[in-house]
Amino acid sequence: AKTSDKGGYEVFASGMHLQVVQRFQLEADLRRGLERQEFQLHYQPIVSLATGRIVGFEALVRWRHPQEGLVFPAAFIPVAEETGLIVALGQWILQEACQQLRHWQDQFPSDPPLMISINLSGCQFAQPDLAARIEKILHTNGLDGHSVKLEITETVAMKDVESTIGLLLQLRSLNLRLSIDDFGTGYSSLSYLHRFPVDTLKVDRSFVSRMSDTSEDATIVQTITMLGHTLGMDVIAEGVETAAQRTKLQALNCEYGQGYLFSKPLDPEGATALLAAQFQP
Ligand code: C2E
Ligand code: CA
Ligand code: CA
Ligand code: CA
Repeated sequence: AKTSDKGGYEVFASGMHLQVVQRFQLEADLRRGLERQEFQLHYQPIVSLATGRIVGFEALVRWRHPQEGLVFPAAFIPVAEETGLIVALGQWILQEACQQLRHWQDQFPSDPPLMISINLSGCQFAQPDLAARIEKILHTNGLDGHSVKLEITETVAMKDVESTIGLLLQLRSLNLRLSIDDFGTGYSSLSYLHRFPVDTLKVDRSFVSRMSDTSEDATIVQTITMLGHTLGMDVIAEGVETAAQRTKLQALNCEYGQGYLFSKPLDPEGATALLAAQFQP
């Protein structure tokens, strides 16, 4: 809005201008980055708290920017979503993650097989042909849907509950596994949660990280875990950084953990090395 103070308005206006220019630049950069294949997936282990074994990985996108170096998703996913570029990027992520999983399942056979978790943005989730696209990728890589888990945030899931349920059922029919991400941070309606055909709740890092400080946050994690179990879901705690947190989570019967205590997200070579260590005879 305009202010009567002319100087203030000009500062505001030039600030806006800068933002627009930067955003425009980023959009052009993103397009070029996609063409030149500058994106890479890193993989963070998901660990069974009971056994300490890696059961799978979450795929997390990175941008190897020629000038900026390694760029994290918070810096570009929002603009990729606004511009619709996330659809092309997301398609690449699905393909890349599934291809990597194929290699790992071949190299490290196990029962149950290793899994991959893939983040879906709201735009991808709104695509009418999402299920068909994923079906094709599964087929190309000879993967059973059961080893692929899709993560959607609570906020995306709650946007249009009826269409979410329809889409989730469609994905379900491909045998895919589904997970509600960042649980506890968004607007969430418990009366809908039980209608979502999902397998997993991911407790947001913010609750896990404060778990040892205040008993209130420990109670929140406990409540979310119990809620998930009551609805027949298993529970993954995000952002596990300390052994004390791990111990508390185990006491709450939380099945899985993910976080720096176990490993940071790793490039494909690093993740493969971790698996090689786990599977060595
Ligand atoms: P998220 O899905 O909640 O992913 C977990 C984030 O927490 C990752 O950040 C991960 O590196 C970080 N993290 C894991 N363990 C710890 C820990 O112990 N401590 C701390 N402090 N952080 C931990 P990252 O990779 O920067 O990703 C940020 C967000 O960007 C993701 O949050 C997700 O919403 C989005 N994102 C990442 N990759 C993709 C993707 O392939 N597609 C889409 N649509 N979104 C993605
Ligand atoms: Ca996630
Ligand atoms: Ca998350
Ligand atoms: Ca989170």
